[in-house]
Amino acid sequence: ENMDIVPIFKMVLDSFKTQHEMKEHEIVFTADGPCPSVVNTVIEEVFANLLSNAIKYSPPKSRIEITFSDENNMWKTSVTDFGIGISDKDKPLLFNRFHRADKKGIKGTGLGLAIVKRIIELHGGKYGVEDNPAGHGSVFWVMLKKA
Ligand code: ATP
Ligand code: MG
Repeated sequence: ENMDIVPIFKMVLDSFKTQHEMKEHEIVFTADGPCPSVVNTVIEEVFANLLSNAIKYSPPKSRIEITFSDENNMWKTSVTDFGIGISDKDKPLLFNRFHRADKKGIKGTGLGLAIVKRIIELHGGKYGVEDNPAGHGSVFWVMLKKA
């Protein structure tokens, strides 16, 4: 059974309204079409954490790109920001509980990505982080099986 991801995306975005409005990010969203309903059970929490980070670790008015796409029989969600980026040393550690990289004075508990990791692993999915190919910032992505 397929469902529309757009209302879920809007709901999560609404819950971030204050944080989002304060920093006035330009949030750009693209979806390939309806997504499998399995995604619904996990995407809210995963997406909320990735979006929270993208807003936190990038400057006001910068752009955040969100994509939902079909990739080799899996459903991929990516969140791209143009923020402070992540060193290669920190990349493999970020998904561990309480690991926080150079936070540049930004507060957090270091649990968000550990929760993402746990949820995705429980569903047999994959996750990762890469440098934004644009030159600064990061791309966080998760993939879930369609069935
Ligand atoms: P919280 O538990 O409130 O989410 P947090 O944001 O510090 O706290 P995580 O979401 O687990 O914790 O992220 C872990 C660390 O990864 C962050 O402290 C930050 O150093 C780094 N990080 C996460 N997302 C980004 C991002 N989009 N850009 C740069 N660094 C990031
Ligand atoms: Mg976080």
